[in-house]
Order: sequence, then structure tokens, then C-alpha cells
Amino acid sequence: MAIFFENDPTLQSYWRSIILYGRNVASYKFALGKALIDLNKNPNDLIKLEDLAKPFAYHLCDHLKENEKQITSSNSKFLNTLKKSINGEIKVEERNHITKKLGFVNVIDAFHEVNGKTIPKRFFIDERKENSGIRLTDHFYKLFELQESENFLNEVEARWRLVETAWKIGVAVKLVQVQHDSIGEKFYINTKLGRINVTSSKNALNGYQKSKCFFCFDYISIIKRSLNLCNVDHFFPDTLKSKDFPGYVDGIWNLVLACKDCNRGEGGKFAKVPSLKFLERLNRRNEYFCSSHHPLRETIMSQTGQTKDQRTKFLQKCYNSAKSKLIHTWDVEPKGTSIF
Ligand SMILES: [Zn+2]
Repeated sequence: MAIFFENDPTLQSYWRSIILYGRNVASYKFALGKALIDLNKNPNDLIKLEDLAKPFAYHLCDHLKENEKQITSSNSKFLNTLKKSINGEIKVEERNHITKKLGFVNVIDAFHEVNGKTIPKRFFIDERKENSGIRLTDHFYKLFELQESENFLNEVEARWRLVETAWKIGVAVKLVQVQHDSIGEKFYINTKLGRINVTSSKNALNGYQKSKCFFCFDYISIIKRSLNLCNVDHFFPDTLKSKDFPGYVDGIWNLVLACKDCNRGEGGKFAKVPSLKFLERLNRRNEYFCSSHHPLRETIMSQTGQTKDQRTKFLQKCYNSAKSKLIHTWDVEPKGTSIF
């Protein structure tokens, strides 16, 4: 199985492998991730558990209000306490005190574990025994000096929404079929009770693209109103919808994030077919999801094929079909270094 951090050992890859690609039995890793993002401006590198408890409990409560199911097991004393605080049955001070005692039992130990291994660079050191807290490392501060760290909060949130929605509708994360709404740029899931909007598609897709345009590698942002705000791009142009194309054009397998120039700038892609090297890149991206625990895995497999061989053939068939209908291919010079 592909493991993200072995291929691309940057700090941001380690961070994303922790948050976006692990297997989850509870949402505590996401809450800790968001709490750490909150703490990156903290003047002190030693974070006492009582100070970590505040943002950690806050983010969990924020999600509990929307989705009661935050854990795969049926009951949790800790979560029951948080629910009481949401209902006003206990005070915030008591909530934080109980969080300090019960909330970190597994998550601090497990945070740096990905696919059963510990990642080599830690973002904090466990000093609960010596100093009743955790100590943020240089890796942590370097990570948050990066421009792309502005996107981390949205990425954690997107992954959290995907996972808890799967738990809420009562199916395993790996069985979720996620659909895309091109107009609202949202991922959603159809259930018996109707459509559930899950998260912004930009936020969910950027975890793989690591803030780089799929085509030219220029910096992209997923923050609204940013000058670098990306577009959700149909790799095979959406004009193919009406042209007897063999693939589901709005499927996630066909969606990538592109900078504005590539998507619709002068010399942009528009309704042209990306050249073969981009097809190989799309194949790598889809294979990456298919070999991970990512909630989009099953969706991509159902849209493109259950085996690697079927998926490769499927992409080739789509390429041949698109080429015969749209004729022109499109290419662009890289503006940054390839990382995928
Ligand atoms: Zn671009």
C-alpha cells in the first residue's frame, strides 16, 4: 500500500498524512489538529493540558452540535460530558477540567501514528509526565511558517465532515458515495432522507494537491477572496457531458484543482484535452486515493473500476473518446516543482 510520507517527506506531507489519510475510530485527531492550528501563535512552546483542553473541547462541541456521532464505538463518558456542556447542564470550566482528564487518553499517543507507524518528525513531544502538557517542536513552527498552512484549517474541517457524515448515516467510511455539486462546489451524499451537504470540494481535494495547481504547480489557495483562489476543474471538459462520453464527467475521479490561468486564463485549458502526461498524473492521483483510507476511495473506484488495471483502461478509453470529439490537446509549462 502506498504510504504518503515515504514518497514525499516534507513537513506538510507529514501533517497531511496524520490528518487526512489515517484510519479513524474517533474524530479526536481532527479536534487536536484544529487545536494545534489555534495554538500556533502561542508564545510558549509548552502547552499545558488545561490550555490544550479549551480549544480541543471547543472544536469537538462545535461538531457535536451538528453531528452527534463522533466515535465508532457506541458510548463515551468524555463525549457525554461534552454533550452535557452543550445542553448547559455543566459549566465550561467543568467541561475543560474533564477534557483535561479524559480527552487526551489516546489521541496524544496516537497523533503521530499513520498506518501503524510513527512518522519520523513530530510536531509535539509528549511531556504529560514531566510537565503536564505537550511541547511544540521546531517542526511545528516551521510548518506554520509555510504559506500553504493557511489552507490547513479548511482541509482538517473537510476531512472531519466526510468522516462524521459517514458515521452519521450509518455506513462505513469506505462505502460512502460522494457526489459533486458543480454550482455550489460542494461534495454531498444522497441518503434515503435526502441530500446531505458534506464539505467544500476545494477543501477536500487540496489535501492531495498540497496547495499546487494540478497542471502547472503554481501556488493555489482554498481561502475565499484569496488572489490565488483555485478553481475546481473538470480534467475532461464538462462539455463532454452531452457528447456520449464513456465516463461520468462530474465524478470526483475527473475533478482537480487548477489555478485561474490554467482553468480559464489566456492560453487556459477551456474545452481542450489535457496532454498525456497530465493523464498519467490524474491516474497517479486516483490510484493514490484508491490505496488510502480516504473517504473518496470508494467513490473513485465505483466511477473508474475496482482494479488498477480496469482503472487504467478506463482512463485510456476516456482519453481516446475525448480526443476524437474535442480534437485539440492542451499543455502548459510548469511554474513550480512537481510534487505529485
Ligand atoms: Zn496552473
